[in-house]
Amino acid sequence: MKEVFVLGAGASAALANLPLGHELIWNYHMDCALCKPIINDVPDMTQDNNQFAGLREFLILASNVYPELKSKVREFDDRGINIFTPFVNEKKYFADEILKVMQENGNQEGILLIKKLILKHLDRKSLARRNAYENFIKKILINKEDNNVSIISFNFDYLLNDYYENGIDNVIYFDYLLDFDYIRENGCKHKNPIPLVKLHGSLDWGLCNKCNKLHLYFPHNLANNYFGEGCPPVCHVGKCDGIIEPYIFLPHQKHDERISSLRNRAEKELREARKITIIGYSFPEYDQSVIELFQRALDDNANVELEVVDYCESNESEAEKIAEIKRKYNDMFPKQKGRLTINLSGFESWLEKPRCPPLHS
Ligand SMILES: [Zn+2]
Repeated sequence: MKEVFVLGAGASAALANLPLGHELIWNYHMDCALCKPIINDVPDMTQDNNQFAGLREFLILASNVYPELKSKVREFDDRGINIFTPFVNEKKYFADEILKVMQENGNQEGILLIKKLILKHLDRKSLARRNAYENFIKKILINKEDNNVSIISFNFDYLLNDYYENGIDNVIYFDYLLDFDYIRENGCKHKNPIPLVKLHGSLDWGLCNKCNKLHLYFPHNLANNYFGEGCPPVCHVGKCDGIIEPYIFLPHQKHDERISSLRNRAEKELREARKITIIGYSFPEYDQSVIELFQRALDDNANVELEVVDYCESNESEAEKIAEIKRKYNDMFPKQKGRLTINLSGFESWLEKPRCPPLHS
């Protein structure tokens, strides 16, 4: 039985406490600031100011787009020993929306700054949780038959990257399904890796802004922050003086043929699946092209079983949330006849659920 797991930001938030969309960059100080030393009764801000200089630049950039955000720059400058807690909840202020404005205005410096801050924020937050997905692999994926499971992910983080190269228990490996021009390790192909289709790109993929070569990095060289590094010489091509940028895409962004091929693959996997488990992904309106991709695939696969794994906030009614999800799925996939189950206990609790042993021999 072919199974597809779809991982959204909620999955990484649950397993590795990674920031969700509205928290990206905005909560960078909250998540990553260290205590400031007090010298002569005054906090020494030198290190904090250096570490978060990019965040201040981002606040200025954002307030140039939305003047009402100017108070955030002042709040940041006046933070003293306190943590900067800006709290933004309108979608237009999210980092990806500001990035969209930068792209529309052709502001290359702004684009680079935002991508760099997303990388730094996710990298710092995920450092301690490299193996956050181990439970998912050991409890769920390891029981699946070869070639019968694949993952579609919308996350930029690279928490599954460790298993790309080293695997887990010599059994589970992943494959990004891309022809990298340059791999920062002695990459070797493993037998039957699980396809890991990352439709919004990944922070461990770097694209040269000049020669357009795609590079794959591993966590230990990512920790040193490859961003902005010169393009390494690629066999037969010679040295290039381009700069490496994270190869990540936001829903509205134009993508190249590499991402198009991943999208085609994702659609094929969804068409062939007997069961699709959607974890921490809510098909937001701005992800219209993804919604359409799922609609095309599921219209042709009307009997597929769907399982939704999400989380119910304490102030939400579980019954109402289930009804709301059902309504949304019925609207999006009107031809669906397969079973739809909704589990709102969160990803971690769902992983702990008792399961039948695998059916294959
Ligand atoms: Zn290059």
